[in-house]
Amino acid sequence: MKKNEAKASITFQEFLDKYPHDEACLEHLFTVRFGQGHVCPKCGQKAKWYRMQAERAYACGLCGHHLHPTAGTIFEDTRTPLKLWFYAFYLFTTSRHGVPAMELMRQLGVTYKTAWRMADLIRKHMAQIDDEWPLFGDVEVDETYVGGRTHGVRGRGAAKKTIVFGMMQRNGQVMTKVVPNVAKKTLQPIIEENVLNGTTVHSDELVSYKGLKKAGYNHKTVNHGAKEYVVGDTHVNGLENFWKHLKGSIRSTHIHVSKKHLHKYAKEFEYRFNRRENASAMLPELLSQFPKPQP
Ligand SMILES: [Zn+2]
Repeated sequence: MKKNEAKASITFQEFLDKYPHDEACLEHLFTVRFGQGHVCPKCGQKAKWYRMQAERAYACGLCGHHLHPTAGTIFEDTRTPLKLWFYAFYLFTTSRHGVPAMELMRQLGVTYKTAWRMADLIRKHMAQIDDEWPLFGDVEVDETYVGGRTHGVRGRGAAKKTIVFGMMQRNGQVMTKVVPNVAKKTLQPIIEENVLNGTTVHSDELVSYKGLKKAGYNHKTVNHGAKEYVVGDTHVNGLENFWKHLKGSIRSTHIHVSKKHLHKYAKEFEYRFNRRENASAMLPELLSQFPKPQP
């Protein structure tokens, strides 16, 4: 498939032009969070703000009050230069398979511990931005088992694996949740909470999905157990492809992801997948959506 040039992610040159050094990064954070003319929380005036030289702060030209553009963001208290953080974000938005901490360590020249923590915070930041809204139209639901050392153990119920439940609107968004089990009482409330009533829901024959009709959905199933994968337009191939990509990437890039952290990796892939048609918007979005600054 040929990608539209304008929708591709930004080039490294464009990145460098925009964020050449720490000062440009700090100014970017100030601009997207406050900006010139921002009403000073202390004197209540529309102020002109001046860059403080000694710290990562701006001062009100009228009363001298300080604003810290990194306060309340993942950059707060970091000793890692902002330009390295921004570059890490660039790598996360331009990679298809995720960025291993080891590669961040090498590329940024930071310790493994720092690299791991940066990657972890970037994933959490992505998860917090990825808005979830009700899915509708044709929605595929499916569950998959990820990770764990398999030693030939396969299929449902394989111990030590993490269960990820997914819902995908055809030609639309995907939503994932790590779940403790695939019981009906676990999965159906998640569907009812996130998929609009009346939607056509496609699933396999897992007994936990029985009852969706009663709950107000147009439920269509394929019988994977009987090697039946597509019946008319009924299939969960969209999700199967998403799982394949997620698992393949974790296997090749991260080797192993523990149960405790898997949901963050799933959210990272979800974030990129949901923006696949507009990849160049990812970096600007990630570098501008922060918690509201405290007054
Ligand atoms: Zn002021």
